[in-house]
Amino acid sequence: MIVKSILSGEKMSFLYNVGEGIYKNWLLYEDGFDRRFLGKVEAVMCLGNGYLGLRSTNEETSSCKTRNLFISGTFNKFSEDEVTELPNAADITELEIEINGESFSLEKGQIIKYSKVLNIKDAEITRNIVWSNSKDEQFELVFRRFVSLENLHLICMKVDIKPLNCSAEIKITSGINAQITNSGSQHFREGNKRFYDKRYIELLQTTTESDIDFVFKCVHNCSVDEERVTATSKMNIDRRKISEILTHEIKQDSVFTLEKKIIVYTSSDKEFSSLDRGYTGKYSNIQIREDVLNKIRDKSLHEIKRIEVKKFEDLLELSKEKWRKIWKQIDISIYSENSKDQLAVRFALYHLCIMTPGHDNRYGIGAKGLSGEGYKGHSFWDTEIFILPMFIYSNPEIARSLLEYRYLTLNGARKKAEDNGYKGAMYPWESAWMNEGDVDIITGEASKIWSGFIEQHITSDIAFAVWQYYMITGDSDFMEKYGYEILFDTAKFWSDRLEWNESKGVFEINDVVGPDEYKEHVDNNAFTNYMAHWNIKKAIDYFAKLKDGNSRLFNILDEKLQLKNNCKIWIEKVDKIFLPEPDENLIIAQDDSYLSKKIIDLSKYKKQEKVGAIFEDFNLEQINSIQISKQADIMTLFYLLEDEFTKEIKLANWNYYEPKTLHDSSLSYAIHSILASDIGDFELAYEMFEKASNIDMGQNMKSSDAGIHSASMGGLWQAVVCGFGGVRMLNGKLRISPHLPEQWVKLSFTINWNEDLLKIEINKKNMKIENVTKNNKVFFTAFDQVYELNERQIIDL
Ligand code: BGC
Repeated sequence: MIVKSILSGEKMSFLYNVGEGIYKNWLLYEDGFDRRFLGKVEAVMCLGNGYLGLRSTNEETSSCKTRNLFISGTFNKFSEDEVTELPNAADITELEIEINGESFSLEKGQIIKYSKVLNIKDAEITRNIVWSNSKDEQFELVFRRFVSLENLHLICMKVDIKPLNCSAEIKITSGINAQITNSGSQHFREGNKRFYDKRYIELLQTTTESDIDFVFKCVHNCSVDEERVTATSKMNIDRRKISEILTHEIKQDSVFTLEKKIIVYTSSDKEFSSLDRGYTGKYSNIQIREDVLNKIRDKSLHEIKRIEVKKFEDLLELSKEKWRKIWKQIDISIYSENSKDQLAVRFALYHLCIMTPGHDNRYGIGAKGLSGEGYKGHSFWDTEIFILPMFIYSNPEIARSLLEYRYLTLNGARKKAEDNGYKGAMYPWESAWMNEGDVDIITGEASKIWSGFIEQHITSDIAFAVWQYYMITGDSDFMEKYGYEILFDTAKFWSDRLEWNESKGVFEINDVVGPDEYKEHVDNNAFTNYMAHWNIKKAIDYFAKLKDGNSRLFNILDEKLQLKNNCKIWIEKVDKIFLPEPDENLIIAQDDSYLSKKIIDLSKYKKQEKVGAIFEDFNLEQINSIQISKQADIMTLFYLLEDEFTKEIKLANWNYYEPKTLHDSSLSYAIHSILASDIGDFELAYEMFEKASNIDMGQNMKSSDAGIHSASMGGLWQAVVCGFGGVRMLNGKLRISPHLPEQWVKLSFTINWNEDLLKIEINKKNMKIENVTKNNKVFFTAFDQVYELNERQIIDL
């Protein structure tokens, strides 16, 4: 057992190899308590189920904690001059524990043993503590917590307290606390608080602007040595707070257990919100709102009573059963000399699952998932380019739901285009609520963030994701209902957005921010231009395909989007779009001015421990004038449009741009890892993979305070499957040309391809591919040779 004490002054750290037996490579282990790093642990050990996300804040109070509970899609605007954000709902995790008259706190007394573990397999956190108070009385405390995957509305907590060298009078104050804010912004009006049958606690809160009712219920059960007992109970109601104070005495070596079960619903939940307010927006009258609220209150009371009789373990088992199914579907196995690699990919998969609201197509994924206030719960290109591929290949239903969310925001994108004087659909850089007008929001900061206004490549990123989903899944129903409309309307935007340059005789896209956000107001960002060109070309292709193959749908879309007229314009313009070509050294200019900017020695910043060190010496305007990149820009282009560029071009540009890239965005390393695989440098690819996996799970204890980095989690999956695994959809065809890094002995994973499930196993000598479902003939290319996969194919490497 590892023992560390805050008094020792040693820095806590994560251990990666603590799991044994069935938990080998499944446990992330914090080996000491350090209040300075609470934020990191709370975020990386966050629990959730896509409906809600609960930061893993310790139960007892401490000075640097952040308590966060977010419920997907419940956006609210605090005031006119603030932007819509996910409100931080009432806290249910805090337990004020007093033993023999002293408050239990890790900042007082002495910690004799401490560990906090995220069990990724079962999605549970556990803390094991031995603590002594000022009188040298020792107690063992075990805290456990999970968010159910079986019942999306359920959170369960449990604490065991055992006095080791004395008897104990235990007093626990626990309830629901709505005094919580988003860094000071109170998003809720105070609602009713009450006890039912002197047992069931209820607290209601309503968002101030979006009028969403949150209904909380909780119940406590106590036992001693596993026998239920009735602790002395006192009810307490405060402003925005309701709690129960439970007291009980136990002998030395007995174990007092408190189980706390919490149920939360909101009026935005699909089952209630469709009753009147549409899915979003206000109720048509107060009476209807009252009726809906009463319905939710009745349901939650019924639910808490139903759940109360079940034990923590039994409820956990139901959730674990769901997780077992998920892991069967998505797990990747890596045999590496560094066992952390296996844990890292599972950690990423775990977070991808808990952050994604797959249950509801009205909601997107936040850049920090549901693990922190960062980026206010808004969705960016992070979803389509970084996260979506994992779902397309592993769980296409969820991928479809995420793309449907973009379809539901299409009217907002049309409005944004119109407001900016363009035709078609212009997706906002940041999205929240799906209803019209609310999508064009920019994360508020003191200075103007230009990305929100002119980082326009998001529009083609979404179109690209639609096409990628279609090619990999073959889901023509999705395309007919939603996909074609997105493809055509985004192409309409781009063709209108183009600017004619008379002297050069080309169409340009000027004054944008490309993926590299250290370059603002640039002309002809290569990524933006190539992707816009791709978007229009695809629209032309599908115009012809639909016209010939599905005239019914063609006519409907033609009437809605004036396809015939627009397609003429697309054809006229598309070949005249300026696409920066490689120069004599094969370098493609990231934008018109990048290559003429100053070059400085960046070695100091390349070695930085913390991102953004460049800002200690330069401001953004100065950075704008130097050849410095924040993140993968042209590399992302090479990845998405892989077969439009030769390996020589990719290599030359890597050598030019990577030394100038500070990887100050968490989106950078994973793409660089894939590109390094593509140019054949597998050691470099591994180095970049490791760096990507350290962003959240690594030992930098300040990197995740505002929440985990959701795009990087998706990027990690891609670095494994698309980088080392060599999986790519190229022009609608499957290619699998893997290459493992030196450190890996074996890699296996599954992917969905059209209607089939393929199992792929790669070792140093060969690759085995098996069609598990055998619904269709599957063709694929490996190392430039085409194969027909009947049942099982072994290819020597
Ligand atoms: C990155 C963007 C990203 C955003 C949200 C920024 O720092 O530069 O590419 O979309 O974070 O993750």
